[in-house]
Amino acid sequence: MSMDRRSFIKTAGMAGGAVAAGAVAGAAIAEEKAPEWSSGMQVDEAAVAAINAEVAEKPAWVGEPPAISVEDCIETIECDVLVVGSALAGCLSAYSAVNNGAKTIMIERNGAPHISGSGIGFFNSEYQKAGGQREHNVQQVMNLVINEANLRVDPALVALWAYHSGEILDEIEENVLQPAGLPGNISIGVPLDPDELDQYIYDFHVDFDGSGHDSLEAFDFIFHDWIREHGGEIMFETCTRKLVQDESGAVIGAIATNPAGEYIYFKTAKGVIMCAGSYAANEEMVKALCYPSMANFIRKYSGYNAKATETAPVTIEERMDDGLGHRMMMWAGAIFEEIDPSYQAWSNDGYWIAAPLAVNNKGQRVFNEAISSLSTSFHIFELPDGANYLWQILDSSGFDFRHCSPCPAQTMR
Ligand SMILES: Cc1cc2nc3c(=O)[nH]c(=O)nc-3n(C[C@H](O)[C@H](O)[C@H](O)COP(=O)(O)OP(=O)(O)OC[C@H]3O[C@@H](n4cnc5c(N)ncnc54)[C@H](O)[C@@H]3O)c2cc1C
Repeated sequence: MSMDRRSFIKTAGMAGGAVAAGAVAGAAIAEEKAPEWSSGMQVDEAAVAAINAEVAEKPAWVGEPPAISVEDCIETIECDVLVVGSALAGCLSAYSAVNNGAKTIMIERNGAPHISGSGIGFFNSEYQKAGGQREHNVQQVMNLVINEANLRVDPALVALWAYHSGEILDEIEENVLQPAGLPGNISIGVPLDPDELDQYIYDFHVDFDGSGHDSLEAFDFIFHDWIREHGGEIMFETCTRKLVQDESGAVIGAIATNPAGEYIYFKTAKGVIMCAGSYAANEEMVKALCYPSMANFIRKYSGYNAKATETAPVTIEERMDDGLGHRMMMWAGAIFEEIDPSYQAWSNDGYWIAAPLAVNNKGQRVFNEAISSLSTSFHIFELPDGANYLWQILDSSGFDFRHCSPCPAQTMR
């Protein structure tokens, strides 16, 4: 059998999909698509069945969906797009939906969005270039990010960011941020060799903290205002409990509880965007999905509510980061990629910078400082008290601390 490039790709794609897509694709290959080169290969039917069964089996942390249906709802609210979660991801998703003409509702289980972070990585925008940041080689940056993340990232998503985040920053600066008076503060990288491993992260950094307290509160609230002013709706203390599917399995809406605990059905014409954040407060999920020293570190140092403020307080009893979003998606048929989750290990107030030398409290080196920040995290998890056992030793002339204020207690110059 001769094979041109197209049929090779088609066949290779089908072979790759056989395990994930289950028995149907497998049977198609066995019956009529088997390429010549595979003639000597035996398909181990029992192994394929075992893999398919394993994929179909849901882990215990998924649990069972609540026994609620549309009939239990006191009200149906129709929209094009429902965004679940009103923090960073929710804000940008709802902005995009509204900006593209969709009737959009964003719902948030708390009385305010979860606030965290201050800087966001964008890349090659006109805004950054005008502010003095260098223009970067897209491919080089993608390689750095993928290596830094120890291959725990989807390269297609990294490419989406690398090629398009700049144009997004220019758009939101013009449409949302500058009219509201919150342009980003551009940091121009640390004064080490800019091509050194680890430094790229500072050189893409645009800080939106209007308060000087490492907080995206102003950023999120400016987006909330923009969304409302442009016809979108935001409902607080409204918690999604279950996604609603049609007979084909397509998600057509969601059931949520209102502040009184009554059920509301959000019926969507175009879809639901899940932006429900972390699962760090769900012990069962952390235990199942993170390796033991990482799970211990998360239990001890979760900084999730660290940025709750007077104007964005936690108003509900339930944890916002209980993994309900992940479980709802699993109930609707999603597959969870079981890779080690990424986590950068800092204690709440510690800063880890690419230090030339890292030692524990006995003065012993603990890891190779040149490895990626994710890899250093794994070593930090193993220390008796995480980053509190770690010192960074830096040359007094080699580093400007303007990016880490207050300076980390454990840093020695
Ligand atoms: C202290 C801290 C500092 C950080 N600093 C930085 C930084 O400087 N730069 C950076 O890039 N990253 C930083 N990060 C990480 C970054 O802030 C987060 O990854 C990002 O903000 C996550 O945004 P999100 O919208 O996906 O999720 P979250 O911020 O977790 O928000 C999820 C929202 O969904 C709501 N929600 C959850 N379940 C439901 C439900 N069932 N129904 C309705 N609503 C629901 C929650 O209440 C919450 O408001 C920091 C994180 C922390 C904790």
